[in-house]
Amino acid sequence: MVLDPTPLLAWYRRVERPLPWRTDPSPYRVWISEIMLQQTRIEAVLPYFERFIGELPDIAALAAAPTDRLMKLWEGLGYYSRARNLQKAAQQLTEEHGGVMPADYDAILALPGIGPYTAGAIASIAFGLPYPAVDGNVLRVAARLLDHHGDVMATAVRKELTAVIREWLPTEAPGAFNQALMELGERVCLPNTVPHCEECPLKAQCLGQARGTAAALPTRVVRTRRRVERRTVMVCIARFPTPKVLLHKRPEEGLLAGLWELPNVLTDDVPSPETWATEQGIPLIDVTPLPAGKHLFSHIEWQLNGFALRTAPFDPPADCVWADEQQLRGLYALPSAFRTYSQALPAWLHTNE
Ligand code: SF4
Repeated sequence: MVLDPTPLLAWYRRVERPLPWRTDPSPYRVWISEIMLQQTRIEAVLPYFERFIGELPDIAALAAAPTDRLMKLWEGLGYYSRARNLQKAAQQLTEEHGGVMPADYDAILALPGIGPYTAGAIASIAFGLPYPAVDGNVLRVAARLLDHHGDVMATAVRKELTAVIREWLPTEAPGAFNQALMELGERVCLPNTVPHCEECPLKAQCLGQARGTAAALPTRVVRTRRRVERRTVMVCIARFPTPKVLLHKRPEEGLLAGLWELPNVLTDDVPSPETWATEQGIPLIDVTPLPAGKHLFSHIEWQLNGFALRTAPFDPPADCVWADEQQLRGLYALPSAFRTYSQALPAWLHTNE
């Protein structure tokens, strides 16, 4: 999608607040403001910014500041590692770049405490270089403009959206464009609610607005920690005289509902395959350990260990069947959770012929 930035830039010129790092956007001031704003609101940052710049007006002063004084200037902003990284970066700039911020995105990105967003902000706002500055606000605006439903928590989606924003950057005003997108995200294209599309300068170009999907965007898939379940898989094989394997049908509700599986139990519930066979009344001949396996469901991780149980033929319980190799291939599909064992089943059946 091609974006005409003209209405956005015109809107930004109207609403732009006269913040001290905007009225005088030197690289040093933009840098300090961006680091302060990382965890703190604009209104709270303003007095700290003025005090900091008043006392440490340039890179040389920051590089040489006594640590105690630096921490005092930062007191109240929290996250002191930001201040320490600022000083480390200032010292690096003094040693490697003659005490000035280089007009080079990659060199800026290489400084301590500076990630792609901050590097993009400094490069575009202070130097007019065409790099995007993509934070959560900007990702949301872009996903809505494009009606993009990909998970913005995923690196690939963020990269894709960043590449599109980079194409949108007007060469004559990349810094203003980046700031305008951020401002739009803060004031109009609001998170977790219906965006104020009526006031939006990009309304006529917005696919999310046109298709009625904007309020539901961006998509964020919150990943939960999986519960680990240790299970022991019992691969029971008997000769009828054709070798067959015992399959169990899972309950009609819950995980893998109604599917066939290799019998398995929670490892903590069963001291050994021999005990399990005795409890089930299975005429066991011998037991061979099998390799361990693992399977990830969305909320559960199965950590599997397995045993091959050679048994005499017996009548299977009501929820089990004996299956030969042909039935395994054509009739009973085993879920991929059992792949570690089901892949080897034909070979095991052969060896029992
Ligand atoms: Fe956001 Fe609405 Fe503007 Fe689209 S039209 S960018 S959804 S505020």
